[in-house]
Amino acid sequence: MIALLFLSLSAFNPPLPDSAQANTASTEQILPHVRQCSPSLSLRSQALNSEQENAICSQLGQIEAHFFKVFGQSNQAPNPVAHDHNQSLRANIYKDKQSFMHYAGEHFHMPTNNGGMYLEGAPDQAGNQAEFIAYQRDNGEVHNLGHEYLHYLDGRYNLYGDFCANLHDSHAPPENCPRPEPEPPYLVWWTEGIAEYLSHPNGHPATQNLAQQNTYRLSELFYTGYEKNNDSTRIYSWGYLATRFMMEKHRDAIEQMLVFTRVGDYPRYQALVRSWDKKWDVEFELWRVSLSL
Ligand SMILES: [Zn+2]
Repeated sequence: MIALLFLSLSAFNPPLPDSAQANTASTEQILPHVRQCSPSLSLRSQALNSEQENAICSQLGQIEAHFFKVFGQSNQAPNPVAHDHNQSLRANIYKDKQSFMHYAGEHFHMPTNNGGMYLEGAPDQAGNQAEFIAYQRDNGEVHNLGHEYLHYLDGRYNLYGDFCANLHDSHAPPENCPRPEPEPPYLVWWTEGIAEYLSHPNGHPATQNLAQQNTYRLSELFYTGYEKNNDSTRIYSWGYLATRFMMEKHRDAIEQMLVFTRVGDYPRYQALVRSWDKKWDVEFELWRVSLSL
C-alpha cells in the first residue's frame, strides 16, 4: 500500500495537501533542470550546471559499466530480476543540504535526517519511477552519489522484490515496512557493503584503517540490522569489509547466494548464511589486518 502511495506521488506529482501546498513549491519548480544521461539514468536538479551534469553522467556511467563487468557476462548487462520495471533511475538533486531538508520531505514523503535516499518504489508496477534524492555539498559534488546509484543497480539485478521484501529491520518512511521485521540474518551487510565496495573501486582508506581494529567477526556482520544496531560504522564500513572479503575471497559463495536473492528465495538465503556460520571468521581476521592503504 505504502509503496503504491509513494509511486503515485512521485511518478505523477498530484497536488500536495493544502497545508503543504501553501508552503512548498512543487518538485518541478524547485528542480527545473532536467538532463537525460542515458536510457537508464536521468537527472533533475535545482542548480547543476551543464559541466556538473556531464561529470555526474560520466561518473555514474562508469559505475554502471563496472557493475555490469562484475556481475554480467562478457561485460554485458546481466538480466534484471523478474518483475522489475525499474528500467531507469531519476536522480533528484537539491542545491544544498538546507534545500534538501526544506523540500525533500514534502516532495518525496521521506525523512531528511540522512545523507539522501534511494527510493525503489514498487518495481513490479509498470510505470514505477525509481528515485534517488540527494543534495550538493559545498564543493558542488553530490553527496553519496555513487553509493545510492549502486542501490538501484543492486535492486534491479541482484535482489528480487521491493525494499520491504529484502531482509532488514528498517521501518522508516516512505516504505514503512511492516512489523514485526523478519528474523536475522539480514541482507544489510550486503546491500550497504556492495554499495560502498563498488563506489570505492580503488580502495577505501578510512575503512581499511578501521580493519585493523578487532571489532567484529565476519559471522556477526551477516546479522547486522539497521535499527537493531543503529551504527553507521558497523553498517557501512564493516559492511564494506565483509562484502569486499566475500567478493574477493569467496566469490563462489556469493554466486550461490545471488541465485537465491535474484529469485526472492530469502529463506534459502538465510539457510545458506546460517550454514556459513563461523567458517571464515579466522580467514577474515587475517585478511582484514593484512589490508594496506
Ligand atoms: Zn545505502
